[in-house]
Amino acid sequence: MSSFSDRVLTWFDANGRKHLPWQQQISAYRVWVSEIMLQQTQVTTVIPYFERFMQRFPDVVSLADAPQDDVLHLWTGLGYYARARNLHKAAQQIAVQHNGEFPQTLEQVMALPGIGRSTAGAILSIACGQSHPILDGNVKRVLARYYAVSGWPGKRAVEDTLWQHATANTPATRTHHYTQAMMDLGAMICTRSKPACDQCPLQSDCIAYAQGQQSDYPGKKPKKILPVKRTIMWIPFYQGSVLLTQRPQSGIWGGLWSFVEGDTDTSLPHALRSVTGSDFNTDALPGFRHTFSHYHLDIQPILIECRSLPAGISEDTHRWVDLSQSLTIGVPTPVKRILTGLTKQL
Ligand code: SF4
Repeated sequence: MSSFSDRVLTWFDANGRKHLPWQQQISAYRVWVSEIMLQQTQVTTVIPYFERFMQRFPDVVSLADAPQDDVLHLWTGLGYYARARNLHKAAQQIAVQHNGEFPQTLEQVMALPGIGRSTAGAILSIACGQSHPILDGNVKRVLARYYAVSGWPGKRAVEDTLWQHATANTPATRTHHYTQAMMDLGAMICTRSKPACDQCPLQSDCIAYAQGQQSDYPGKKPKKILPVKRTIMWIPFYQGSVLLTQRPQSGIWGGLWSFVEGDTDTSLPHALRSVTGSDFNTDALPGFRHTFSHYHLDIQPILIECRSLPAGISEDTHRWVDLSQSLTIGVPTPVKRILTGLTKQL
């Protein structure tokens, strides 16, 4: 029987994806941006974001020079905004420390913000032809099933075992195709539920397949019940515009524009009291739940209909957004949802 990597490469030649936007005009920059966008996000979702991003920031230097607001704006809807902030920071580091050229060693790439061992390996193998193993979610699933590695890959010992298998199977040549092939095999054949084992080049000696226990691998993360938090989003509204405020750089939605939040729906938060005066009506909009990886957030939006132009607003931290115009700043997904709802009502 031919080797693991030979079988994977033969499968890739016949079935792998070769026409994705980041597989054209391949460069380390384009592969890097795609790899970051693809973390926790499906290919079909990523494609239009990637294309808009490349149009606005065609190279590392244009990304490094951009205001953070522009970067976050193009990320709106993709979620996990730390990815965008790290991408921006890393581009600035590359501009200063590497003369605008993407670094070429695994250590240098891993030293950039937001790039772990697997992403660094993927960039250097796909864009630079180097031989490095990768271990993203798709590859973990294939290897955990093929070798019947039990346990949750978030555990250090399980991850180490999977890295050993990944390293042992990564070929010295054609690594760029092998890397892409493993990602494709996980995404297209060895899928989370109902893997298409009959079309898999690894079926003949896959242990999970032989045991009929594909769904046992990889081991599940121990379940924990997500806590529920609640927030009020206060929305000053005046003549078709709403007031947004920029969030601190660290923490959830860092650097994005959102509404002033409060704990209770009966009194205006201090930050808004001097702004709206007393001449307003409040109107509770339908509440909804937004779920993060570690908690649920129940959001109650409340419209503050101002009858005169609110005063005392610092332009550095607050911005009026005209609902009839398209957005040019980054906002979190729930804020976008509220803005879209309000725009429809106008
Ligand atoms: S045979 Fe099935 S379970 Fe095993 S690697 Fe292939 S698709 Fe995954």
